[in-house]
Amino acid sequence: MSDRSLNDSAKPMFDFLTPPTTITGMLEYAAMWLGAALIILLPIEVWRQYRAKTLTRQSWLEMFANASTLVPTILVTGAVTGFVIWLFASASALALWHLPVNIWTAVAAIILVDLVYYWDHRIGHRIRLMWAFSHSVHHSSPVFNQTTGLRISFVDGFISPWYYTSIILMGFDPLLVAAAFGFNLGYQQWIHTETIGRLGRFDWWFNSPSNHRVHHGSQQQYLDKNYGGVLMIWDHMFGTYEAEGEKVIYGLTEPINSVNPWKVHFEEFRRLIVKFKTLKTGRAKLRLLLTGPEVIVAD
Ligand SMILES: [Zn+2]
Ligand SMILES: [Zn+2]
Repeated sequence: MSDRSLNDSAKPMFDFLTPPTTITGMLEYAAMWLGAALIILLPIEVWRQYRAKTLTRQSWLEMFANASTLVPTILVTGAVTGFVIWLFASASALALWHLPVNIWTAVAAIILVDLVYYWDHRIGHRIRLMWAFSHSVHHSSPVFNQTTGLRISFVDGFISPWYYTSIILMGFDPLLVAAAFGFNLGYQQWIHTETIGRLGRFDWWFNSPSNHRVHHGSQQQYLDKNYGGVLMIWDHMFGTYEAEGEKVIYGLTEPINSVNPWKVHFEEFRRLIVKFKTLKTGRAKLRLLLTGPEVIVAD
């Protein structure tokens, strides 16, 4: 365990006034400032759209639909926090040894969290149950700006943490893993923008606006590409990297065509249930749940 107990992590994570004195505190602080990209980039994006005369009533509605997912996310924050504290503490109790928190284990935790994030994210795309129930919510917006970064399903908080227990079982401090995960998510706020173009070599090594525009693309060459959170090396290693080429068309291959917050959250899940009911055999139903969203499953 680090110099703070797990219960301390339930205290406000984002404290502007107290400078961090611990490594986990520094990671949380960095996550907060990275997340603050929203405050800087969103007004620029809106201004650019206004100047280009593309700031329509529909684009405002899409932005509000994106932000609407914050409501259930905020409502379940207490439950998610309690769940993560229980899960991470349980995993730590099972670990055979405990590594200290220092700069080396912090760097290792950041890299390991990013590797696990790659697979967490890839599973979210490639297993239809995960896709329909959770991650498709992040992808169903036809607009791509800072509000898209906020568009996350509230169920994610109960699914994602399971993957990161693997790092805690290796002996890493649970608070350090939680902070490294927060850093990973905080980093991903600024990449949801069209305001920043391609960044040369940076795009090869790190997740960037250009790489993440590709990830949100609905064209064939852009599907299931660029899963990395902070680093792009995993996509290069596992063959899922795609550089930005033709102008990206955002959203799902079958758009949800709605700004209704209920549909934003559940339309893809409803579509899955409709398909599920048409299948008769258990084998086909299971195949439907566990294959990729594009696979046509029949009895
Ligand atoms: Zn994704
Ligand atoms: Zn995204």
